[in-house]
Amino acid sequence: MKLSLGKQLSLGFALIIFITVAVISIIANLLIKNEFEKYVEKQQQAFSAQLAAGLSAQYDEDSGEWDVDYIHGMGMYALSDGYILKVYDSQNEVVWDAENHDMEHCHQMMQEIEERMNRLSGDEGQFVTHSYDILSGEKIIGRADITYYTPYYFNENAFRFVDSLNIILLVTGIICIINAICMGVIFAKKISKPIIKVTDIADEISKGDYSVRTDSRTSTVELRELSQAINNMAEKIERQEGLRKQLTSDVAHELRTPLTNISTQVEMIVDGLFEPTKERLNGIYDEVNRLSSLVSELEKLQLIENTKLNKTEVDLLELAKSTASVFEAEFNKNNLQCTVLGEKTLLFADEGKLRQVITNLISNAIKYSQSGGTIEISVKSYGENAVLSVKDHGIGISEEDKELIFERFYRTDKSRSRKSGGVGIGLAIVNAIVKAHGGKIEVESTEGMGSDFIVTLPKNDAQN
Ligand code: ADP
Repeated sequence: MKLSLGKQLSLGFALIIFITVAVISIIANLLIKNEFEKYVEKQQQAFSAQLAAGLSAQYDEDSGEWDVDYIHGMGMYALSDGYILKVYDSQNEVVWDAENHDMEHCHQMMQEIEERMNRLSGDEGQFVTHSYDILSGEKIIGRADITYYTPYYFNENAFRFVDSLNIILLVTGIICIINAICMGVIFAKKISKPIIKVTDIADEISKGDYSVRTDSRTSTVELRELSQAINNMAEKIERQEGLRKQLTSDVAHELRTPLTNISTQVEMIVDGLFEPTKERLNGIYDEVNRLSSLVSELEKLQLIENTKLNKTEVDLLELAKSTASVFEAEFNKNNLQCTVLGEKTLLFADEGKLRQVITNLISNAIKYSQSGGTIEISVKSYGENAVLSVKDHGIGISEEDKELIFERFYRTDKSRSRKSGGVGIGLAIVNAIVKAHGGKIEVESTEGMGSDFIVTLPKNDAQN
């Protein structure tokens, strides 16, 4: 059964209140049963004993007569309270009998009490006669038989008290449940309003409008986080969408320039307008190389995103040294000094892919350094992590670009990068590999001063 948040909250509140009130009622009733009933029972025993004791004063020893009028008064008073009195003298002759006196009243009273008690506690009790000796000093002057409902009964007042208590509990329960439903509706509105808003926004996003944002003005932390998450998602999709569009235009542009160059030159050579000199053919060869490097970079990225890591134990310092050594000719050509320092750091990782990370970072450091500069590579072990840093003293990266350079096809300065031969995929590859290893990459950089790319990778329990 599908229920709205509002209905679920209202029902939930109502159920909690209902259970609470029911538990309070049961406890209250149990207390009444145990304590109040015991109290009433004792009161009744005390009353009947007192009634019997009071009768001795109604006997005149000298004349041997009973004050029947007074006994009649006592008997009628007791009858109105549920006690049926019968008084005998020492010869067992009846002095006064409530039933003889007013049979109808007696039976009516017994019936009322029985009905009342049956209604309250079921068929538990019955009328029992209790006999008391009437004493004058030590001498037995008669006997009083007092019949009343045993073990206890509620007179009109006690019954009304118990009844009122139950009604109070019932009314309180009903008021609480109505209150719970109202509170549920109010709470639900408060909670569901921002959720409905977020749903609408998510709907808009799914329809392709990535510019929409929700305002996260709600006091509920989780809802505020949900709104922010949706906003972040929309922002990311918007940026990705921008990059996707840029990617298409970039790829087209990247392809068009070398293709135009190649086709123009080849056409001229075919038409006999140009001599196929070595320089011309080298120029064409360079353009073809650019094209194939673009394609192979794209392939690499696609491969990293779609293949599993082949992890073995790798010494990151050794790997950094051997990768840097491959660039020796490049360092010399660009008049750069490169140092690799640090400690032996073992980790479980895909060696080939880590080599790719170091290669890309060194190749960037070379590309964006000026002649005569230095590149410092260091490897360190920090607790559970291995940390690699590739630092150059080149052109640096601006604050706003730092966030974006790891996106594919992002280049801080297109003309500069194109001249430097980059296609804007190198760092996207690095980022994808580091993330696949469960690590992170950060960049510290100041424009004009240089950049430091810091890769943190979990060692994954490699024995160091
Ligand atoms: P590219 O192939 O263009 O170098 P990358 O993905 O490797 O692509 O880098 C993205 C952009 O980040 C580059 O275009 C460059 O502007 C900037 N960048 C990368 N590394 C450095 C660095 N060491 N110093 C300065 N800028 C850098």
